[in-house]
Amino acid sequence: MNRRKFIKNSALTGAGLAVGNSLISCEEKASKTNETSATITESNSKANLPLVIATWHVKEATAKAMGILQAGGNALDAVEQGCRIEEANEKGQSVGKGGLPDRDGNVTLDACIMDKHGNCGSVVYLQNITHAVSVARKVMEDTPHVMLAGEGAKQFAISSGFEPEDLLTEASKNAWKKWKVEAKYKPIINIENHDTIGMLAIDKNGDLSGACTTSGLAYKMGGRVGDSPIIGSGLFVDNEIGACVATGLGEEVLKTVGSFLVVELMRQGKSPQQACEEAILRIVNKPNSNFKDFQVGYIAVNKQGETGSYAIHQWFSMTKFQDGVNEQIQSNFYNKV
Ligand code: ASP
Repeated sequence: MNRRKFIKNSALTGAGLAVGNSLISCEEKASKTNETSATITESNSKANLPLVIATWHVKEATAKAMGILQAGGNALDAVEQGCRIEEANEKGQSVGKGGLPDRDGNVTLDACIMDKHGNCGSVVYLQNITHAVSVARKVMEDTPHVMLAGEGAKQFAISSGFEPEDLLTEASKNAWKKWKVEAKYKPIINIENHDTIGMLAIDKNGDLSGACTTSGLAYKMGGRVGDSPIIGSGLFVDNEIGACVATGLGEEVLKTVGSFLVVELMRQGKSPQQACEEAILRIVNKPNSNFKDFQVGYIAVNKQGETGSYAIHQWFSMTKFQDGVNEQIQSNFYNKV
């Protein structure tokens, strides 16, 4: 089945629920992707460090992270600063400022971060603060807790010096108003309608960190939280073994504790590529899985600096910066029919 047909079929089932706007941007993204990307690869070579990988096409973000790593900075600073680039980018409608809102018009952000010691911080249902990833880091470093939610997270951010602001841009407001005309109850899921930024880095010392930030699914129910801020689902880092970060339909990642699973599979001896593939199989091989109607993608790196990525459907990509090359790499995928 070709890609256009896939989208059409998904929309017809009512579970794909793609609207015109998203499809147009997806088509644009896909053709852009074709022009600029490297071929599907699994890296097996003993890696030169440092390195950084991220979900989707985010070369500016990986460049920022690599700048920090090259200057001798640590992986934690690199992933935080890299993610902040996309959070501040109003054109990215699934992260930070300009993120698409929930069905009531509220932009609510989820983010988490994890360091080489296994420390982690997370914010869920955060409103009015652009740099959710930095609030998550503050939770990790300045509180005795791992996760803060909603109003408590916002008040903590403000008391830590973050400026509250309106995150709903004109573009996002207009897209939401358009969606409201037909307002389907289920969230819009399309195979490329995911822009969660997940970033993993290894610094010159060989230490790993990871971060993940998102506005979650567009037009989700008020109060919905996905996988991205949940340690073990959206992100997991084990400095002895490796790290993984997820994007796509968070509910499916949560049900399989995806990122932890990938890291545990690497612990058992699988390469990052093999581990990502097995984690995707856990989702698609479930009895009655409706995987044709949603996308999930994983990227992973092991302690040796080998990387991998895999998704249910075509057009998932990873950005990788290593050895002076900052490139977008198309991910291999399960659904080849
Ligand atoms: N995983 C995110 C969520 O479910 C969405 C995404 O990756 O686009 O909230």
